[in-house]
Amino acid sequence: TPEKISDEEIIDFRKEHLGKSLSLSYSEPLHIVRGEGVYLIDSDGKKYIDTANNVNHVGHQHPKVVAAGQQQMAVLNTNTRYLHKEIINYAEALLKKLPKELSVLHFVNSGSEANELALRMAKTVTGQENMLAIEVGYHGNTNAVMDVSSYKFDGKGGFPQPANTHILPLPDIFRGKHCGKNAGTEYANYATRHIEHLRGMDKGIAGFIGESMISCGGQIVPPKNYFKKVYKTVREAGGICIADEVQTGFGRMGKTFWAFELFDVVPDIVTMGKPAGNGHPLAVVACTKEISEKFHTGMEFFNTFGGNPVSCAIGRTVLEVIEEENLQQNALETGAFLKSGLLQLQKESPIIGDVRGEGLFLGFELTDNNKNPLAEHAAYLSDRMKTLGVLMSTDGPDYNVLKIKPPVVFNKEHAQELIDKLRIVFGEDFMKAY
Ligand code: PMP
Repeated sequence: TPEKISDEEIIDFRKEHLGKSLSLSYSEPLHIVRGEGVYLIDSDGKKYIDTANNVNHVGHQHPKVVAAGQQQMAVLNTNTRYLHKEIINYAEALLKKLPKELSVLHFVNSGSEANELALRMAKTVTGQENMLAIEVGYHGNTNAVMDVSSYKFDGKGGFPQPANTHILPLPDIFRGKHCGKNAGTEYANYATRHIEHLRGMDKGIAGFIGESMISCGGQIVPPKNYFKKVYKTVREAGGICIADEVQTGFGRMGKTFWAFELFDVVPDIVTMGKPAGNGHPLAVVACTKEISEKFHTGMEFFNTFGGNPVSCAIGRTVLEVIEEENLQQNALETGAFLKSGLLQLQKESPIIGDVRGEGLFLGFELTDNNKNPLAEHAAYLSDRMKTLGVLMSTDGPDYNVLKIKPPVVFNKEHAQELIDKLRIVFGEDFMKAY
């Protein structure tokens, strides 16, 4: 490729030679060449605050994480069939962050692979096939995880809901089926109904998979007692409870290191990904000793890249940086500051129907006075914010939710800048007409 390649040339090449189903953000895509802390920098040198990327958790291109990868890459990278100390160092550091029940780790390379393995464990251990999952959940791009990702059952691309998957309604207390004070129990009761229905056909369940806060579903915070009840029902039916912490883990919640801890539950399996390697492909499955033993049927589990010394050095360093820079506490404090700013904006701009979330995992929803979703306004807002130098992402079943999940080095100044720029856009005519 020539020294300087134009945006048009990149777009044309992608169209011709990269998979047609890849997408680009924004109608005028960004050409990003560098990352630094909470910033992404484009080919013209323009800096954008990144409020959407929960992968580069401790900041884009964090020097300590970069150095850890570079150093280990220069020495050795190989698979787990040799003894190496880095896998032990990382495992020990990660286990310190997990409840003692979750004492066995498996290393893989992506959130999809982590969930794929978790599902295989649940199916192997129980000898069952049927899974419960949450509406609008997304768990990855491989066959088995697509089968439990109701986000993909929307008719686009004609991917149907498999017969072995049973979907629980999105536990949304703003615009969902149940919004009252009994919503947690009402939503959890769908698990009971599905299990009873299956029992009527002489079938059991392998388990339940759910994010502890539902991200693609639109930053949904389930009612406090929801998971306790679902887990109890699933376990009584012999199923395994899987918490997908791919988006929510590693201190982002502020109050807790994992989102499931906010709900006072301990899953049987926890899957982790995105932030684990700060952008390097690293993902993990944590499970109980009992599951790990039952999963060991005699067949080897081998993963060429999973658990390699470079990935483990990077993963360990990410955990160190979270501690050294007090990033969980930052998520708590900056998150609270930002949430109160958003609640103030909501008072000024009634188009903000709901503000929700914990720590630096926040969202707000754009609706009219009858709670109808305003997707075009969400798209307009995200485009205008881009022009103002802030990258935001929209999601939710009706594409009207703005998701805020920046690198956790996002501080109060960044939060104030975000609020100030949102205020500018909310003041524009387009945002007032609905
Ligand atoms: N689980 C959740 C909750 C996710 O958001 C994603 C990715 N968006 C995945 C799993 C899949 O992870 P990956 O893209 O690394 O395979």
